Amino acid sequence: MVVEDTTRVKDYLNKTKLEALDYVINPYVGCPNKCLYCYAAYMSSFSKHSEEWGEFIDVKRTSKKINIFKIKNKKVMISTVTDPYNSYEEKYRITRMIMEQLVKSEAFLSIVTKSKLVLRDIDLFKQMKHLEVALSISTLDENLKTKLEPNSSSIAERLETLKILKQNGIKTVAFIAPIIPQITDFRSIINATKDFVDEYWFDNLNLRSSFKTKMFKFIDDEYPIFKALYEDIYNKKNSEYFEQTNKEIDDYCLSNGIMYKNFSAGT
Ligand code: SF4
Repeated sequence: MVVEDTTRVKDYLNKTKLEALDYVINPYVGCPNKCLYCYAAYMSSFSKHSEEWGEFIDVKRTSKKINIFKIKNKKVMISTVTDPYNSYEEKYRITRMIMEQLVKSEAFLSIVTKSKLVLRDIDLFKQMKHLEVALSISTLDENLKTKLEPNSSSIAERLETLKILKQNGIKTVAFIAPIIPQITDFRSIINATKDFVDEYWFDNLNLRSSFKTKMFKFIDDEYPIFKALYEDIYNKKNSEYFEQTNKEIDDYCLSNGIMYKNFSAGT
């Protein structure tokens, strides 16, 4: 792993065109989690690295303080193209330093992670006005998780993390993403977490560029029975599978009184 620990940036805060958000904060460039389906690999082109995505991490540094007045009542996500609590955060504490600056903020803050390390900052979270912490989960199967997301916390650790956050009065979100066709069972994830999760988010698996090749190989090796379906969805661009899934999510959540957002369907 190549670590560049003094990558200068102008500001931690970046305006975003992503729907439903105003700003994003990505404390690192790169992500050591190495998820097989990682959509963020395009960020490599914004770095000077020749290493593959997942093989480098830039630790962002700036002396500029986050302008908390600028983000009052704005929606800010931490993070969108890295895991803010990735294993390097334990040493570099950039996310911690950013959260310290955000303690008095009146922004609507959303943290998204796959790591139990997020628990380290509960003392700060408890002081924040509008905060939700999302743990991403796409399967409850630990073996499958290890194949898909080799370097992040186990599923059991993520569930325990959500429980502890909830016990500490923090708003919890289970981000069921990516929804991997025929593999992600959103109902079983909801059933396993509903006692300590306040809201569910959903997002479908998108496949582009290099990670499409990786996921297709994974399906070929592990689930050849689904190969035709993946060809249909991702090569022939047939939207029926996800239209049906989105409908099932709506029906299930509405009939069970579950708070949710489906980023794929815009609901
Ligand atoms: S945690 Fe997110 S950014 Fe990091 S490798 Fe996984 S999908 Fe990519």
